[in-house]
Amino acid sequence: MSKVLELSDKGHSVSVEALTVAYPHDDRLLIALQGVALEVQRGELVCVVGASGSGKSTLLNVLAGLERPTRGRAHVHGHVALMFQEAALLPWLTAAGNVELALELRGIKRSERKAIADELLHRVHLDGFERRRPHELSGGMRQRVALARALAQDADVLLMDEPFAALDAITRDLLHQELERLWRETGLTILFVTHNAREAVRLGDRVLVFTSRPGRVAHEVRVDLPRPRSLDSPELAVIAGRITDRLKHEMARTSDG
Ligand code: ADP
Ligand code: MG
Repeated sequence: MSKVLELSDKGHSVSVEALTVAYPHDDRLLIALQGVALEVQRGELVCVVGASGSGKSTLLNVLAGLERPTRGRAHVHGHVALMFQEAALLPWLTAAGNVELALELRGIKRSERKAIADELLHRVHLDGFERRRPHELSGGMRQRVALARALAQDADVLLMDEPFAALDAITRDLLHQELERLWRETGLTILFVTHNAREAVRLGDRVLVFTSRPGRVAHEVRVDLPRPRSLDSPELAVIAGRITDRLKHEMARTSDG
């Protein structure tokens, strides 16, 4: 399909060079990221795995324009959508209403919004739940709505910050399948952040392993296992095990809490 063409034109969707981010902390500076360099090709699904506090969210926040680099640069080519651990839906709007709001912000005409929102909710398998409010949905369903809302933004790049970390194993497994399917269908570029090495190997074309604070790319693993991958497969476990060893090594090296 056209995905091959997109990959062959070598467009970088995300490029980060010598990125350093420091936050004021008491009288000193807390260096969250130091000299991060990475690139994500158009249509690629890249995972970043790192311990808690290694600057993963900071990286995504800089890419989303919510935080400024202290030094270096971070550039995203095209429109960005963000997804977090909490779905961050507006509680007074229905599932469809939340998606329609994203469409409205994109300037889609009122008369067209409902049909598009229903179609997007259909794509994340939420038929029959369009009129429910967030508190009437399970955690997994809320993340499905968040996915539909991200698709409604017609983004080129989807930045995902541990989006499935709060879900139970079975729901997470289903959402991995769902995300992989949507990624294939849309040709989206995805940068997916997680502290879970298995999840990173389950999803990523490549996995970038971060050091503990300050964060930078310590290691890159290309995952050549065929898709869809099973979280429980021995091949996946071997690769994830090596990554986890590296993360433990990193945490021991900087064991300041
Ligand atoms: P991760 O997402 O990998 O857990 P974060 O990017 O959230 O890591 O945080 C990296 C470090 O930067 C942490 O030590 C955190 O406390 C600090 N930090 C993150 N955001 C801010 C902020 N807005 N102000 C001050 N310190 C921050
Ligand atoms: Mg984080």
